Amino acid sequence: MKKIAIITALLVASTYSFGQDVNKLIDQDDVTRIIKTLSADDMQGRATFTPGIEKAAQFIEGEYKKAGLKPLAGNTGYRQNFTMIRSTPVKTTAFINGKAIVPDSVFTIGSAAFTWASDKDVQVVNVTADKNFRQEYVEAQKSGKKTLMIIDPKFQSLFKRAHDAYSTRGSVSFKGKTASPMALVLGKFDNITSFDISYENKSEELPLFNVAGIIPGKTKPNEFVVFSGHYDHLGILKAMEGDSIANGADDDASGTTAVISLAKYYKKLNNNARTLIFVAFTAEEIGEYGSQYFATQVDPDKVVAMFNIEMIGKASKFGENSAFITGFDRSNFGTILQSNLKGTKFEFHPDPYPDQDLFYRSDNASLAEKGVPAHTISTDQIDIDKLYHTVKDEFSSLDVNNITSTIRAIALSSRSIVSGKDTPTRVPKLER
Ligand SMILES: [Zn+2]
Repeated sequence: MKKIAIITALLVASTYSFGQDVNKLIDQDDVTRIIKTLSADDMQGRATFTPGIEKAAQFIEGEYKKAGLKPLAGNTGYRQNFTMIRSTPVKTTAFINGKAIVPDSVFTIGSAAFTWASDKDVQVVNVTADKNFRQEYVEAQKSGKKTLMIIDPKFQSLFKRAHDAYSTRGSVSFKGKTASPMALVLGKFDNITSFDISYENKSEELPLFNVAGIIPGKTKPNEFVVFSGHYDHLGILKAMEGDSIANGADDDASGTTAVISLAKYYKKLNNNARTLIFVAFTAEEIGEYGSQYFATQVDPDKVVAMFNIEMIGKASKFGENSAFITGFDRSNFGTILQSNLKGTKFEFHPDPYPDQDLFYRSDNASLAEKGVPAHTISTDQIDIDKLYHTVKDEFSSLDVNNITSTIRAIALSSRSIVSGKDTPTRVPKLER
């Protein structure tokens, strides 16, 4: 018993001394400065393809430079560039059973124009009231088939949101990859005997980039640990009380702040066995495109873990000094983190919102589907968070203590993975 007590005392003492330097090395004033800058009104909500997000990128680059990060192998700067094609509808007309559909009840998606006249190779999917609209939509996209989707009026509000978004912003796809052409019609039809749909579009090439930097591993440089968050947000939304800027302070300036702070922390320690990749992803809000591109540029088998950080701006449902990990049971990543925090007052919990499918709703999914133990760490009370995706998600609503303590907990709990001592189990590869 005595021996165990001494060992426990030593363990507690070492956690305590790590705790001391994590408090010093991750400075709350610096955390505050970074998140305030990223969520300021002059970033205009950091919408993908806008000057506001360019400003955010420049700020992140400056922080990486100050931290002393190196560019990714083969890059000269921190920008990991790629090209997307945006297709915006110019004109859509639709007739079902010879009857014209009003413009508010139809929208079309596709990277090229199309005309369908009851074509046999178009699949007709009936999204009846008992089905899950979102799921049917994802399935159809995945199928790669031409799809005419008939949406029950029960889904009117979700349909309207999608209609307005695709009609004004259009749809995006990676250059060289065509999106499945789709037409979505709101209404009830007993039997579809004929359809005529025509879609004209305008396409443009748009450059995008993630902001990424590394600290090369000292002894295991070919094994990577990724720390990530997304730096894009929604931009300008409908005004509430005269404010139209969706600042995305929690979503996900908080995660981006964590990435920058962890980069500075690990650079100061400068003893990482594995190569650390710090990446701020673009275009998460419009389809996780930044992380999807990143996943094509890194060998997933070399990535031993991914810490994706999303919305750590307010206390979790478990109270102060706690956060949760999505997909907790899919690998032993979470239990490694938990055991590294023994003796501290911070606790990681499994995701308490399994119904929300959070594991698939952030950038970790892009690497998890390739077998990487890639998990998202969050404190958001997503089921009751009234500020989520509104213009009210701004700095004044955040709890900076919560952000700082969560970043420090990630720093402490990631150490054994960074040092090569622990290697999380792989997650089963996913079909998406
Ligand atoms: Zn987010």
